[in-house]
Amino acid sequence: MKVLLFGTGGVPHSTPKRSSLAGIRQIRELGLDCMELAFVRRVAMGERTASEVRRAAEEHEVRLSVHAPYYVNLNSHEADKVRASRQRILQAARVGWLCGAQSIVFHPAFYHDDSSEIVYERVRGCLVELMEELRAEGNESILRPETTGKASQFGTLEELLRLSKEVEGVAPCVDFAHLHARTGADNSYEEFAALLELIEGELGRAGLEDMHIHISGIDYSSAGERKHLNLADADLRYVELLQALRDFEVAAWSSARVPAWRKTLCLCRGLIAVWVSTSRGSQGFCIWQLVTEFSQLSHYRAGLTSINQLL
Ligand SMILES: [Zn+2]
Ligand SMILES: [Zn+2]
Repeated sequence: MKVLLFGTGGVPHSTPKRSSLAGIRQIRELGLDCMELAFVRRVAMGERTASEVRRAAEEHEVRLSVHAPYYVNLNSHEADKVRASRQRILQAARVGWLCGAQSIVFHPAFYHDDSSEIVYERVRGCLVELMEELRAEGNESILRPETTGKASQFGTLEELLRLSKEVEGVAPCVDFAHLHARTGADNSYEEFAALLELIEGELGRAGLEDMHIHISGIDYSSAGERKHLNLADADLRYVELLQALRDFEVAAWSSARVPAWRKTLCLCRGLIAVWVSTSRGSQGFCIWQLVTEFSQLSHYRAGLTSINQLL
């Protein structure tokens, strides 16, 4: 039996008064089921709000994850920047845990002039220590370094799979738009299937049954990611991607951000989530985001219906 779940990344644009609490209610109002708390500038939420968020999420049965601040670089050559980066990840994980979120997504590092291997060792060392600290606090967060959209950024799928195998509590966040933007490839059924095979080969079935995925349209150049776009305005072949995810019986969840100016258009980011109950009884999420534009709720609901049929 497969059950579909729907959700958004960040507070839905259609939320009247934008706050995490209002966002959770709006998720339910829109018939969605999950949301990624976007702490992308800083982690400003206090303990009291976090426990309110947790209660609201439980009450409305909205599942939460966290995106840590963008200002993270575990390979900075300035020691205080590495320290600050580590603190940002820890803070996101601590507040996320209070909110009832488990997955903490972040962009791990830049290569600068260092080799992939050197950066890998630095990032791995940091993550081992961060995990130790979190576990010692009783925090069961999963740290999810994200596949990044530029060749200058650490975060190929191969690097993240290796980290996931070597560090307890680490798993990848697979941003398919970023993977596509890095090289211009990874944009066909065969390529998506190859990526999923790679994940299964490295992490086993468990790797496919506990995925965290970002999907959106993306503008890119030879240097990689420029900015996120709505799927309708971009070249990502998301129907083929959805088909590959279906064929591999992937279970996961996701979010992505659209340009801020779109807030004024009363956008609702449609995030599609699929809950997969396997015949073996294990359950997981499969969520993916269709960044779609709906000016009215009725359009949105019609879109949701057609997406359901697509799936
Ligand atoms: Zn991200
Ligand atoms: Zn992303």
